[in-house]
Amino acid sequence: MRRCALATGASRGIGRAVAAALAREGWPVCVNYLERREAAESLVAELRAQGRAAMAFQADVADREAVEAMVRAAAEALGPVELLVNNAGISRQGLFQDLGDEDWDRLLAVNLTGPRNAIQAVLPHMLGEKRGCVVNISSMWGLRGASCEAAYAATKAGLIGLTRSLALELAPSGIRVNCVAPGCIETDMVRILGEDTRRMLAEETPLGRLGTPEEVAEAVAFLASERAAFITGQVLAADGGFIV
Ligand code: NAP
Repeated sequence: MRRCALATGASRGIGRAVAAALAREGWPVCVNYLERREAAESLVAELRAQGRAAMAFQADVADREAVEAMVRAAAEALGPVELLVNNAGISRQGLFQDLGDEDWDRLLAVNLTGPRNAIQAVLPHMLGEKRGCVVNISSMWGLRGASCEAAYAATKAGLIGLTRSLALELAPSGIRVNCVAPGCIETDMVRILGEDTRRMLAEETPLGRLGTPEEVAEAVAFLASERAAFITGQVLAADGGFIV
């Protein structure tokens, strides 16, 4: 069957591990990136060396036309997108009263409008086939709220609402929509917080450490697989027990 998986924000961090895990599961993978072309191309080269079909595509998920072009290109090169992982995301730290329009708008555009753009771009094929799977990468802060990351947490809570609503709306069409809510994971997004904050977050995590991108990717690969054929509308936390 000709089909592919699209992972947004897959040049590094969680998205990169997700793309690699999906390729291992047998999916041809489209590796989306924003700025890091070399990193995305090196992942594609790695996957091809393992005998997997893969391609890289630059697109800002906030740009609807760019996302539509990416979905068309992936369909031509690898097969129609039947698995979408909305992973691309950005964070901002700071007091809510200091948050300006630019940061607020960009957080919403990438973290919430981005998944909207990608889901709407892949839906026509999925609805036509009555088959498909979407996994959204939210965050434990979207479940719990986060001081000094209110806008980020709001976008991630919104993504959970979108997941649950679309799971209900699309279930009759045979399309599953789930969410993974990572805790603190060793990526650039957490590295920029500094060593002291990272140590504090590890201590606050019941399992006593930060997670790895590969551990989040395992949760995504499970939800994307036939092993999860009867699971939709769920939020699977991969957070070392942070939120219990
Ligand atoms: P990261 O290391 O900062 O990597 C972000 C990835 O997203 C990069 O591949 C980047 O591409 C891409 N990206 C950023 N903006 C984009 C845009 N507008 N369009 C397309 N791609 C874009 O992040 P991460 O830690 O792996 O996080 C991945 C996801 O997990 C995010 O949604 C994040 O909110 C969520 N999450 C992370 C953690 C954590 O602890 N790390 C916890 C909970 C949730 P380029 O490199 O090409 O710029």
